[in-house]
Amino acid sequence: MKIALLLLAAAAAGAQVRTVAEEEVLRVHRSALIIDGHNDVTSKTVRGFDIARPTAEGHTDIARMRQGGIGAQFFAAYVAVNYMDSNQSAQRALQMIDTIRHDIVGKNPRDFLLALSAADIEQARREGRIAALIGIEGGHAIEEDLRLLRQFYNLGARYLSFTHTRHLSWAGSSGEVGQQGLSDFGRSVVAEMNRLGMMIDVSHISDRTLADTLAATRAPVFASHSSCRALANVPRNLTDEQIRGIAKGGGVIMVNFYCQFLLGRPKTQASIDDVVRHIDHIKRIAGVEAIGLGSDFDGIDCAPTGLEDVSKFPNLTRKLLEKGYSEREIRQIYGENFLRFMRSVEQAAESR
Ligand SMILES: [Zn+2]
Repeated sequence: MKIALLLLAAAAAGAQVRTVAEEEVLRVHRSALIIDGHNDVTSKTVRGFDIARPTAEGHTDIARMRQGGIGAQFFAAYVAVNYMDSNQSAQRALQMIDTIRHDIVGKNPRDFLLALSAADIEQARREGRIAALIGIEGGHAIEEDLRLLRQFYNLGARYLSFTHTRHLSWAGSSGEVGQQGLSDFGRSVVAEMNRLGMMIDVSHISDRTLADTLAATRAPVFASHSSCRALANVPRNLTDEQIRGIAKGGGVIMVNFYCQFLLGRPKTQASIDDVVRHIDHIKRIAGVEAIGLGSDFDGIDCAPTGLEDVSKFPNLTRKLLEKGYSEREIRQIYGENFLRFMRSVEQAAESR
């Protein structure tokens, strides 16, 4: 009787009621292709950190990526805004792309395949390698020149986040006050990315720039590492309207694991349940097809309990199964939604 009441109370609170065996967790986990939209270990590898050396430091190394079952990883070619002050943004982007191509992929060919397409991600999986992808974080990298954008694409960059924490002349950032939108040049960046088949990342941009981008683009857009503002009220997160707008176009919202973006409060410890809350919210307002994962590992100083580093992804599979998510939904959230989105960007480019 007592147990029945407890179960009822748990069900009423929306808590887990299903018991899931470890065997099921591992079976479902291995069946899914996990694609993570954003990892900043590149800020360490560019200074000499060896991703092949197992360590307990930080969030990422090859052994822990294998343990976590990562199928594809977007590595951030992150360009800090202070490089704008010395006009070295493009140079920095080249250094960051080089650390991905040379230090991460080039030195570890058995573990990584540089992926340039959705087909390459699947190819890497068939070969038992992790697909490594390049995403440029900070549109100042192109120094207001579409020729540089094209050359970064040629080097393998497959997404560009228009801004980091500062407004650009052509796009507004969520990190600054004032709602700067997309300029004419900003719209030409959108058009050129559509033409190339390069994915537009709306993480870090201002609300007005996001609205302008949705209005200008011919292809779907996505958020590589953002969560829900309805649950955690910070400008870096997306409003319900934005989430629906991205989903309507066929894009995905890759949920960020940063404690502050999960809870909306600084210096508070989040847990894996908070990640699930954000996943639940997107599912409720926009459908399961709109969900992805964008951990931001090694770019955050607080990761949720239960998701402390890249090795812990199986814990999320357990939580989702306990919450009643189906095997199919988990596969969609982990990678299938993103692959669908990436393919539609590639197809939009081909059909111009
Ligand atoms: Zn970021």
